[in-house]
Amino acid sequence: MVSVLSAGARSAAPAQASARRVGRPLSAVRSRVYLPSFSIVAVAAALVAIGWADRWGGSGFGPSMTGLRLVVIGPTTLAIIGVFLVAERVRPAQRRALIARGHRQDLLFTVFNATLVVPLVTALSLSFSEIARRSLPWVILPRIGTVPRWGAIALIFVAMDFCNWFAHLANHRVRFLWRFHELHHSQEDLNVLSVFRTHPLIHVSYLIALIPGIVLLANGALTTTLLVIYGGIVAFAHSNTNLGFGPLGRIVVSPNFHRIHHKLDGPQDVNLGFALTVWDQLFGLAVFPTPETIRTDTGLPGRPLIVEQAGARPHHLSVFVAQLVAPFRPLDADRRPAVQPVSHLTQRR
Ligand SMILES: [Zn+2]
Ligand SMILES: [Zn+2]
Repeated sequence: MVSVLSAGARSAAPAQASARRVGRPLSAVRSRVYLPSFSIVAVAAALVAIGWADRWGGSGFGPSMTGLRLVVIGPTTLAIIGVFLVAERVRPAQRRALIARGHRQDLLFTVFNATLVVPLVTALSLSFSEIARRSLPWVILPRIGTVPRWGAIALIFVAMDFCNWFAHLANHRVRFLWRFHELHHSQEDLNVLSVFRTHPLIHVSYLIALIPGIVLLANGALTTTLLVIYGGIVAFAHSNTNLGFGPLGRIVVSPNFHRIHHKLDGPQDVNLGFALTVWDQLFGLAVFPTPETIRTDTGLPGRPLIVEQAGARPHHLSVFVAQLVAPFRPLDADRRPAVQPVSHLTQRR
């Protein structure tokens, strides 16, 4: 009996040793990088490669990129942002310097979006749309004569907003997505340009918002003007402006409503809506502004991600690079804020 046991132990020992040898390189990699974040890189690379090989499904890459750039940073968008910057000075939620560190950092992200992120998002969008059209042709509805064009456009607008809400919820509930999304939440000087403070790869998670436009393409399509208005609502929600929109704030996301989503000491998986508050209300995740929340501080407790506000000098460029690399850094569980379960939210309200 003893010999059998010892023989078993002898045969198990080399197996364990070889398992340790196999496990060692993997744990060495894990100690240096956060592997799940590379799944987003893989999806993005695959989409770009497929789109490239497919010549973007016959859609002109150049014109599509110009169209997106017009929405993101065209003259109308810049004029709207200018108005919002004035609103921030006239009716600030929090008083701060004319150009705070956070403003300069978000300006860096704005330039980054206008130059390098626009081509990436164009590539991802064209490739995703073409793959969806080819692999699921039955999802594309034929022209429905009884539905007026404006009705189809309104439906695309609302459904796109729901998809954005859902992707945003996933950004908060799925850890590897949160590692990309936390950059957006790290802003302590929340301002209108914070809408551009996003990791470029997080756009992969928002590609589902293209589906309503693909399904209803034969019945209507969102115009550049409508997309600029949509972007304007989302940008204004980030502005450091004390505005709740009165009764309209029950339907449209206001700066006071979205500020609660960025609240430093609050559960941040509330008020996830981009333009409409209805999705948060439907799923019990809406927290409407009160006098206490209007001027609340924003950012992440314990600064799990390096921010420009830390340190005697801001070091904008090195912080910028560190913020982009952060999702791939190993996960330090002790420093990470816990994603709060819904039961906590219920208790708060
Ligand atoms: Zn968020
Ligand atoms: Zn936000």
